[in-house]
Amino acid sequence: MELALSPEQEEIRRLAHDFAVKEVKPRAQAIDQDHEFPQDLVDKASQLGLLGILVPEEYGGAGLDHLSFAIVIEEIARFCASTAVIIDVHTSVGTEPIALFGTAEQKRRWLPDLASGKRLAAFALTEADAGSDAAHLKTTATRRDGGYELNGAKMFITNAGHAGLYVVMAATAPGKGAEGISAFVVEGANPGITVGPPFEKMGLNGSAISEVRFDRCQVPSTDRLGMEGDGFKVAMRALDSGRIGISAQAIGLAQGALDDALAYARERKQFGKPIGDFQTIQNKIADMAVKVSAARWLTWATAARCDRGEAFTKEASMTKLFATDSAMEVTLEALQVLGGYGYLEEYPMARRVRDAKACQIYEGTNQIQRVVIARELLRAS
Ligand SMILES: Cc1cc2nc3c(=O)[nH]c(=O)nc-3n(C[C@H](O)[C@H](O)[C@H](O)COP(=O)(O)OP(=O)(O)OC[C@H]3O[C@@H](n4cnc5c(N)ncnc54)[C@H](O)[C@@H]3O)c2cc1C
Repeated sequence: MELALSPEQEEIRRLAHDFAVKEVKPRAQAIDQDHEFPQDLVDKASQLGLLGILVPEEYGGAGLDHLSFAIVIEEIARFCASTAVIIDVHTSVGTEPIALFGTAEQKRRWLPDLASGKRLAAFALTEADAGSDAAHLKTTATRRDGGYELNGAKMFITNAGHAGLYVVMAATAPGKGAEGISAFVVEGANPGITVGPPFEKMGLNGSAISEVRFDRCQVPSTDRLGMEGDGFKVAMRALDSGRIGISAQAIGLAQGALDDALAYARERKQFGKPIGDFQTIQNKIADMAVKVSAARWLTWATAARCDRGEAFTKEASMTKLFATDSAMEVTLEALQVLGGYGYLEEYPMARRVRDAKACQIYEGTNQIQRVVIARELLRAS
């Protein structure tokens, strides 16, 4: 399999890299310290077409592949994982389900605004009592007056309050588990939606997550995505390619940490020589570089597999597990290379460690990735 980037993918990498260096890098520290949602960066990324990467050209997007998507997220996450996850969630789990499962009319109605960044998307699956066990969610969608009435609450929703559209999973046949779930696209302006205040969290301070409540929220039948009972399938397919994006975010975090550790190891002198001359530091650098490269190749291979239209559930889980565990290890090791300075918030290392932790938790914890991998392997003939 050829895994070299095409000229088109190289071009998108250059575009994303320039955006990340010129616009994202100078803002990253303040976004973290001020817990500021980076609307300015989302707007600039929109102007560059980076919010419509996976949207087909006929609906105003770039119509690019998942490898290009992974490259863009990695480049942004190298400097700011908050900005990366906002764009990642919008592009993958927020927008892609509409491109994959929407009717022609739904695509015409929603995709152009999502591709241009006029509206940001969110994905609402998790509930307070339904995290890993998402099939047992309690939000209901009851048929009413030719449409549906949604009642319930979603937890931890990225882009909540900023999103113009929410892809929401709710039970149309409560008690039937996965088969009883349907997917809906709910407008952010729907008066039946209430968004709670952003949660204070360990990291990703620029990316808002909140509870989203649905109280007698009226949704027309035309806004159901797929057939009744298809919602869990929609969510799982969205998460499969979402995991490519989270892996790319993790690689960006790890690559950024490695870059800074390398620069520091060249410059910092102790015992009269650069610390990069000590073998223990060299070992750390080598181990970090291996993990970053392996995670990137795995992610690119999974993205390419997805783009060839092959099954990639197991591969997406393997990639997410390896890339995000690697990001945690690499960011911690890179912090160690900087010694006491790594522990200071004025350097970006502590932020990277805080941000990397979330990658091991969302879009399926890494324990759940192992469950998926083992299940897929055990049932294969
Ligand atoms: C920053 C952030 C952003 C998020 N954004 C979104 C979003 O946009 N949309 C959305 O829908 N959700 C979002 N989430 C929710 C996220 O996907 C869930 O937190 C995650 O799926 C885990 O669910 P939980 O927190 O309820 O943990 P639980 O499911 O309660 O798990 C608790 C612990 O038990 C382990 N565990 C559970 N079941 C098993 C099992 N079968 N085998 C082994 N171990 C198990 C877990 O791995 C974990 O360690 C976000 C979360 C965070 C932290």
